[in-house]
Amino acid sequence: MRRTLAAGNWKMNGDAAMLDALQQLQAPGGDNAPDILICPPSTLLLQAVAASENSPVRIGGQDCHTAASGAHTGDVSAAMIKATGASAVLVGHSERRADHGETNSDVRAKVEAAWGADLLAILCIGESEAERMGDDTLDIIAAQLEASLPDGATGTNTVIAYEPIWAIGTGRVPTLEQIVETHDMIRARLEARFATQGAAIRILYGGSVKPSNAAEIFTAENVDGALVGGASLKVADIQPIIDALAAS
Ligand code: PEP
Repeated sequence: MRRTLAAGNWKMNGDAAMLDALQQLQAPGGDNAPDILICPPSTLLLQAVAASENSPVRIGGQDCHTAASGAHTGDVSAAMIKATGASAVLVGHSERRADHGETNSDVRAKVEAAWGADLLAILCIGESEAERMGDDTLDIIAAQLEASLPDGATGTNTVIAYEPIWAIGTGRVPTLEQIVETHDMIRARLEARFATQGAAIRILYGGSVKPSNAAEIFTAENVDGALVGGASLKVADIQPIIDALAAS
């Protein structure tokens, strides 16, 4: 059985005062208690790790460089993220792919860098609106998965986050049937490539997840949690999503 995961991506938001939220988040009891992960900006990682001590919240980075060190002004390596006490890192988020021109092969190298630093890699993939309208979603997602995910993925080193680009920050969400179709395809590909480990890799849905739509999304068998942007900025929004996951 896969343990569910509620992951929050603060993006370029948040300050030290917001770290109080990490103490307020509650892990629901019971067998179905989800893992909880918050990914603040890299400047807050150290403080976030300290603030989440004795809480169920784990901390992750939002991106890492492919290299361990070197002349890469403004970047941080996976080992630097690990050294803060963080346990995971997002890679290949569509905002990184769009704003920084990251390709599937860049993203693949970042996954390897994350693994090399003993970080859980949360690999983001997703189609554009034009690709969705052109009925190309499954082909695009399969190609991204193949090209961005290195050999050696396991249930403990990798999480996949399916995030339709057109659903991020827009309030628009695919139909449940569309989410099911895409997640089932991702699961089939993971199992075909990684056998039992492919069955153990968690697949998150991301894109305008809110307290009002979370429970329905979590009914899908191959949705193992959510990657949440905007709604992760307030305890009042992310806590009901965590609770819905526990109840799913
Ligand atoms: C995201 O950027 O990963 C995301 C899912 O954002 P939002 O929840 O705001 O759509």
